[in-house]
Amino acid sequence: MEYYSSHINKLIEEFSRLPGIGAKSAQRLAFHVLNMPKDQVEQLAGAIVNAKANVQYCKCCYTLTDQEICPICKNPRRNQKVIMVVENTRDLAAYEKTGKFDGVYHVLHGAISPMLGIGPDDIKLKELMQRITKDDIEEVIIATNSSLEGETTAMYISKLIKPTGIKVSRIASGVPVGGDLEYIDEVTLLRALEGRVEL
Ligand code: ZN
Repeated sequence: MEYYSSHINKLIEEFSRLPGIGAKSAQRLAFHVLNMPKDQVEQLAGAIVNAKANVQYCKCCYTLTDQEICPICKNPRRNQKVIMVVENTRDLAAYEKTGKFDGVYHVLHGAISPMLGIGPDDIKLKELMQRITKDDIEEVIIATNSSLEGETTAMYISKLIKPTGIKVSRIASGVPVGGDLEYIDEVTLLRALEGRVEL
């Protein structure tokens, strides 16, 4: 039996597709939205549509940005010879918050996961290799998560880069296993960066 109108059901269904949103939360969000003033709902919907329409990958590091080249890649004070490889834009933001890394990034948009059927071609790995063979790079710091997928990805990348003679390092462990980098405090992140080991 349908308790709600089809419009409400559709809204609940859309919310429940989002990560971390179960059936109950989806219902709560749907009714919250329905109780919001109309202009606020339009602002919310507009922000979603605009973000999707205007955000693109940086042509250099593949982070999500609203410009062709992101502000970090464009910044002449950043050391373009040191690249930190992260899984996603949120991890990049976590390192940026420490304010202590002056190199540039490369965002993979995922990690290798044989279990989920995500292979090396499904993340921005080709793009990383093209970048390091084209530019003059001194060090690649692999800052993928310490989850199984993150470690698998780190090993894979180091094997690819080693033959090029470019220094490859891995951030120190101490970052909780399986923990998303964005949830780790800045001190721990800094320690992980400073204590990185050459692979
Ligand atoms: Zn960039």
